[in-house]
Amino acid sequence: MHPAPHETEHLVIIGNGMAGHRLVEALLKEPGRPARITVIGDEATPAYNRILLSPWLAGEMERQALTLREAEWYAAQGVELLLGERVASIDRVARRLTTDAGRALDYHRLVLATGSRPAMPAVPGIALSGVHGFRDLSDAEALAGVAERGGRVVVIGGGLLGLEAAEGLRKRGQGSRGLAVCVLQRSARLMNRQLDATAAGLLEAELARRGLAIHTGAQLAAIEGDHHGRVSGVRLVDGQRLVADCVVVAAGITPNAELGQRAGLDVDRAIVVDDTLTTSDPAIHALGECCQFEGTTYGLVEPIWRQVEVLAERLTADPAEGIRYEERPCATKLKISGISLFAFGPIEPDAGHDVLAYHDPEQGDYRRLLLRDGRLEGAILYGDTAMGPWLFDQAQAGGDLGPCRRALLLGAADADALLDAHHSDTNSDNPDRPVKEAA
Ligand SMILES: Cc1cc2nc3c(=O)[nH]c(=O)nc-3n(C[C@H](O)[C@H](O)[C@H](O)COP(=O)(O)OP(=O)(O)OC[C@H]3O[C@@H](n4cnc5c(N)ncnc54)[C@H](O)[C@@H]3O)c2cc1C
Repeated sequence: MHPAPHETEHLVIIGNGMAGHRLVEALLKEPGRPARITVIGDEATPAYNRILLSPWLAGEMERQALTLREAEWYAAQGVELLLGERVASIDRVARRLTTDAGRALDYHRLVLATGSRPAMPAVPGIALSGVHGFRDLSDAEALAGVAERGGRVVVIGGGLLGLEAAEGLRKRGQGSRGLAVCVLQRSARLMNRQLDATAAGLLEAELARRGLAIHTGAQLAAIEGDHHGRVSGVRLVDGQRLVADCVVVAAGITPNAELGQRAGLDVDRAIVVDDTLTTSDPAIHALGECCQFEGTTYGLVEPIWRQVEVLAERLTADPAEGIRYEERPCATKLKISGISLFAFGPIEPDAGHDVLAYHDPEQGDYRRLLLRDGRLEGAILYGDTAMGPWLFDQAQAGGDLGPCRRALLLGAADADALLDAHHSDTNSDNPDRPVKEAA
């Protein structure tokens, strides 16, 4: 009898980031794990929780808390971990890859989990010394040094990442002499892809109160340097000039798809995969921020965790039976201490939307819901966000919230009680409907 394929199979995972690491954890839980697993990552340390780089920069947690697993753990699980090495090329015909250290490795199946990198705007001066991204531990360490030394920092980008970088810098630099942090946002408001003008205004006022300078409607024209090749300032399209000795670029991400592209895989904005996370080569899979499914690319971990489940099953079980990946909506949260924000769905109402809003400027509380025919499609909560997850669940369930409409802005418990009361009324009118049993 021949051994099952996974008993002899060598699986190689390129990238020891959030997706690559979680896939290893998932594979180890499955009974049919591949006989040999090798993980290659170009960062110097084993995978860490990238999300926590923001609170780490702000000085809110120790470095150790970011570690997901030590190198010894991989060894104990029989997983070979190669760090500080970058996969340079893939020969799909020979099923062999080569690293920048000259190592050659044969694979049966390959997973690309190479993530993405900061998108660098094509402006003059972008390569000057003192221009940073905010993606990995070495970026975060460099920014921590900047904050502690003090100086003038300009953060390009008023989205989630830019604001977490700016506030992290400010907080870490509180004790240092003369740290000034300024955020440049091209749109007319902060977090324009998640917030409406009212919520963005509340956020901006709070960040300004803490000492950040916020410039909205500000478009970068060039980064200027001194004669040592170091950043000395930024110039905006309207001619304004800001002095800076450090620029942090947080203006979007670019998927690391070039390795797949050079190997001849189908690549659009990222490496194209199907609903089993398989690329155009059946022996090669991709997941996380380097992949693209039905035109969507990724920037949050929630969909990536679902991709991991699908791929782990695909790599260990009968392919005919595996679960399939499908796109689902995501909610946004901001990780800045003392600021609570929760948003999902469309930002601007259209003609068919029913808008419910509550605003208490004194308390800095704002809630705005968009309903269509009684069904919740979007919410923006600023301040008290306790209802956020409940509202998100309601939107996913797609039920008619008309019966609890007047309680919708007040709290999940009130709204739930009204919905329950409505359902039991309808049940008592209709003998064919199942009656909810009393608890
Ligand atoms: C500061 C920060 C805060 C964030 N906060 C949140 C949050 O609050 N919520 C949220 O959902 N998401 C957040 N994200 C996004 C989240 O971290 C990413 O969605 C997630 O890390 C993507 O996982 P990934 O494995 O695809 O990419 P990564 O985690 O970037 O891992 C890819 C790894 O592959 C390596 N690699 C690339 N090319 C090669 C190669 N050729 N050879 C070997 N190794 C290679 C990279 O160096 C990297 O280590 C945040 C991101 C950052 C930077």
